[in-house]
Amino acid sequence: MSNFLNLACKYTDLLSARPNLLLLVVSYPIGGRFGRNLVYLFGMGEKKCPHCGAWSKWNQHIQDTCEHCGEKLGGADLAYHEKRLAQEKANRENWIFYIKETDGEFVQLVKKVGNFFYTLYIAIITFLAWLIAVLPG
Ligand SMILES: [Zn+2]
Repeated sequence: MSNFLNLACKYTDLLSARPNLLLLVVSYPIGGRFGRNLVYLFGMGEKKCPHCGAWSKWNQHIQDTCEHCGEKLGGADLAYHEKRLAQEKANRENWIFYIKETDGEFVQLVKKVGNFFYTLYIAIITFLAWLIAVLPG
């Protein structure tokens, strides 16, 4: 415990500057009397702004904005997130049975039937894979 307190003291300055910081010290009982310490620091409820570099409050939402410069805090994560969303949308719309609002009634019906059989096909494949997995030998 005293070992832990020693370590905690080292980080007191840091913690007083950043009150939202969570400090986690994991002590392993290997290599020496006190073992090895791994120190984890978690920034709770704040994030370093990728635009101005200041620490800003955030509620883990990728769309939150910096309280200093007003830019989005998401940064690269946000860019990646948006890119992935756009990609998913494109994939969905490129799908052969994707029902567009401009499709006629007959086309919509054909696509619905297509989707149904595709789902059925996937279900059968999944079932076969499961069957092979549970069969002995
Ligand atoms: Zn900022």
